[in-house]
Amino acid sequence: MAASRTYDAIIIGGGHNGLVTAAYLARAGKRVVVLEKRPRVGGAAVTEEIFPGFKFTMFSYVVSLLRPEIIRDLDLPRHGLHVLPLESTVTPMENGNYLAAWGDHDETRRELYRHSPRDAEAYDEYGRLMHFMAQAVKPILSMVPPDPTSFDPRDLFALLRLGKHFRGLGAERLHALIKLMTMSSADFLDEWFETDVLKATKSASGIIGTFLGPRSPGTVFRAWGFAKGGTGAVSESIASAARAFGAEIRCDAPVARVIVKGGRATGVALENGDEISAKVVVTGLDPRRSFLQLLEEQELPGDFVADIKRFKFRGSSGKVNLALDSLPSFTCMPGIGRQHRGALSISPSLEYVERAYDDAKYGEFSRNPYMDVIIPSMIDPGMAPPGKHVMSIFVQYAPYNLNGGWTDAKREAFGDAVVNTLSRYAPNLKSLILHRQVLTPSDIERITGLSEGNIFQGELALQQLFFLRPASRWAKYTTPIRGYWQCGSGTHPGGGIMGANGRLAALEIVKAT
Ligand SMILES: Cc1cc2nc3c(=O)[nH]c(=O)nc-3n(C[C@H](O)[C@H](O)[C@H](O)COP(=O)(O)OP(=O)(O)OC[C@H]3O[C@@H](n4cnc5c(N)ncnc54)[C@H](O)[C@@H]3O)c2cc1C
Repeated sequence: MAASRTYDAIIIGGGHNGLVTAAYLARAGKRVVVLEKRPRVGGAAVTEEIFPGFKFTMFSYVVSLLRPEIIRDLDLPRHGLHVLPLESTVTPMENGNYLAAWGDHDETRRELYRHSPRDAEAYDEYGRLMHFMAQAVKPILSMVPPDPTSFDPRDLFALLRLGKHFRGLGAERLHALIKLMTMSSADFLDEWFETDVLKATKSASGIIGTFLGPRSPGTVFRAWGFAKGGTGAVSESIASAARAFGAEIRCDAPVARVIVKGGRATGVALENGDEISAKVVVTGLDPRRSFLQLLEEQELPGDFVADIKRFKFRGSSGKVNLALDSLPSFTCMPGIGRQHRGALSISPSLEYVERAYDDAKYGEFSRNPYMDVIIPSMIDPGMAPPGKHVMSIFVQYAPYNLNGGWTDAKREAFGDAVVNTLSRYAPNLKSLILHRQVLTPSDIERITGLSEGNIFQGELALQQLFFLRPASRWAKYTTPIRGYWQCGSGTHPGGGIMGANGRLAALEIVKAT
């Protein structure tokens, strides 16, 4: 069937980044259509009622980096966005003790003092440094990466600005930033603290979504909140803003290929054979799908194809979603209390986390995995029927390339490993489980389209960041095909619910068209 309407822009994929691009383009007066293959928008940021009455923030579960300029520009609170604080992290230890970080600074300091007066003293200075590091990195999240090999005045000016920014940090902080970017989280944290469980819990945030352990370089990093309604509510709020600006959003509309004529993208063909044309086509899919699936290899330069084939995915995370009859009691902090309203980190020691990685290195899922657990229904009661609860368990490591491949039996064995491990810290957990959903990297790939189940549309490793994401010379949201743009997490500044990629892409498109 022939297309009935021509658009200024087609956005392939209604992930949160595709939706941000659509909203900004529509706001700029463009006629925009979003084509999403699934029955709902959001991609890896979706909320689904998997079991009647129980709503799961199925993949991603917490929000921290969503750019404030996007919240403002798109007036997201008016469209339903409401982020609730997730104040504490409790790490149960194997000896029955625990380490807790609470919303109250003085209380956290006292808690640390219980473990190590030296660490309690170091904690404030560490916190100040991390705050400063976050401030140092922030401008980079909102900039189009300049090409260091280019003589284009725009690139030279941006490089100069970047140089000035880093110089402005001062020697000491610049050195700390370089160490933070390049050292293993274990080595970096060794320089600050002596309490193993503290180092293990802090290191865990650096390994999420990577195929690296806490002793691997470049793993020091990343404060969280819970969106009312789950991360799907973030996507829905952006979709609502996009529609309010005039964008059209079509679900159940999988794109089969991008139509290229004379080296220029002119539209897309849907899997049902429909063709839709537009002045520009923007992909929110990961680089492998955007270039190696939606296009023919011969339509692209050989060196670019080689770069995209080299781009590393290596999904390493799984997710277990539980519907619970009531709340579990944790041995380290029995009964019901504020520990249920924050995160629970299963990271009792650095060695524990490194051993979890060891299993994955040799093609097995971790028998004793690192887990980041929250109970969304304790933060937003609307997530489960009265008195019942949902538990979200993010699990590391589950390698995409499991020995012998993922099967239904291995999925269940992985789910059992997760529940058994958590039951060591919450012995009544098993008896409370009403339903369980286990998602392997292979399931993540099948449902969301994220290649190899990589949660960030490609590893966030130093060699795949900034002007190298997804490939050198093509980190400014353009592609070798004229009129074909990219806006997903596979571009700078990478994955996570930030929307920065989608916004930067849209601003570049508006400038160019
Ligand atoms: C298990 C898991 C846990 C995570 N936890 C967190 C977390 O707690 N906090 C956080 O900030 N980040 C988290 N992340 C990462 C974050 O969710 C992603 O980086 C982000 O949502 C990616 O958004 P995106 O818009 O770039 O791409 P995607 O969400 O991948 O969107 C791409 C969209 O394209 C659609 N699509 C694919 N193929 C086609 C096609 N052929 N035609 C049309 N549409 C198509 C997909 O259905 C999808 O909607 C997690 C991810 C996973 C998987």
